[in-house]
Amino acid sequence: MNTQERELEGRVALVTGGSRGIGLAVSRALAEAGARVAVVGRDGAAAEAAAAGLAGEGHAGFACDVADGARVKEVVTEVEERLGPVGVLVNNAGITRDNILLRLDDDAWDTVLAVNLKGAFNTTRAVARSMMKQRDGAIVNVTSVVGLMGNPGQANYAASKAGLVGFTKSVARELASRNVRCNAVAPGFIRTDMTAELNDAQVADLQGRIPLGRLGDPEDVAGLIRFLVGPAARYITGQVIAVDGGMAM
Ligand code: NAP
Repeated sequence: MNTQERELEGRVALVTGGSRGIGLAVSRALAEAGARVAVVGRDGAAAEAAAAGLAGEGHAGFACDVADGARVKEVVTEVEERLGPVGVLVNNAGITRDNILLRLDDDAWDTVLAVNLKGAFNTTRAVARSMMKQRDGAIVNVTSVVGLMGNPGQANYAASKAGLVGFTKSVARELASRNVRCNAVAPGFIRTDMTAELNDAQVADLQGRIPLGRLGDPEDVAGLIRFLVGPAARYITGQVIAVDGGMAM
């Protein structure tokens, strides 16, 4: 990584969905930058295994469904006791439950909104007071190009991701006076478990719509997030930055 060396030394970063895919790449990048990382996921053993594999010392994994606000509060308290006050929050946990509008049932709508949108609210609210007290904090919400462009079959997912854009800008405006920044990244199509089910024809079709001509890797997103939470981005807040091979320009 060609960023400043260990620019997050001494900071505590909480990464939701940090055990796989984009979140795991983010956890690795922030650990390489010197942060102590709290890896959060529903599967506690997977979160602990991910934390154990990170560079450096002081990381830990936590079992937590971000849609469960009470559990999020408990976990943030535990993170603060074990690792220290959270200075960096990456709201990355997200799910899809795709269907065309006429077949989209209430459960698919409610579950996707509860994890992708309310989950980010739960964690951000739980860390905000401490970040404000520290007069220092950086939050990144992982939205999607789908939240900016729409996508057939993903009305619930697109609504949750578009919701995160408004959430990001409101939090940025509210917390800026305390030097707490909040930005969003909008990945395009990235190779993870979430996109593993695309068949060859779908991948070929997608590649044709991506100016750089390929799907992205989790590290492509992690590099941007490492930059956004670090000192080189200290004057950037309320922004939504696409990392999508040029798909959404
Ligand atoms: P992924 O490979 O499916 O990983 C999802 C991660 O989130 C896992 O660590 C999972 O761990 C965790 N998670 C899921 N539900 C959770 C919950 N309720 N509470 C806590 N953790 C939960 O997904 P990904 O592709 O890396 O996607 C990461 C983020 O990027 C998502 O927000 C996604 O919408 C966004 N994104 C992805 C793409 C893409 O092309 N891949 C594009 C744009 C945006 P557990 O299963 O143990 O909970």
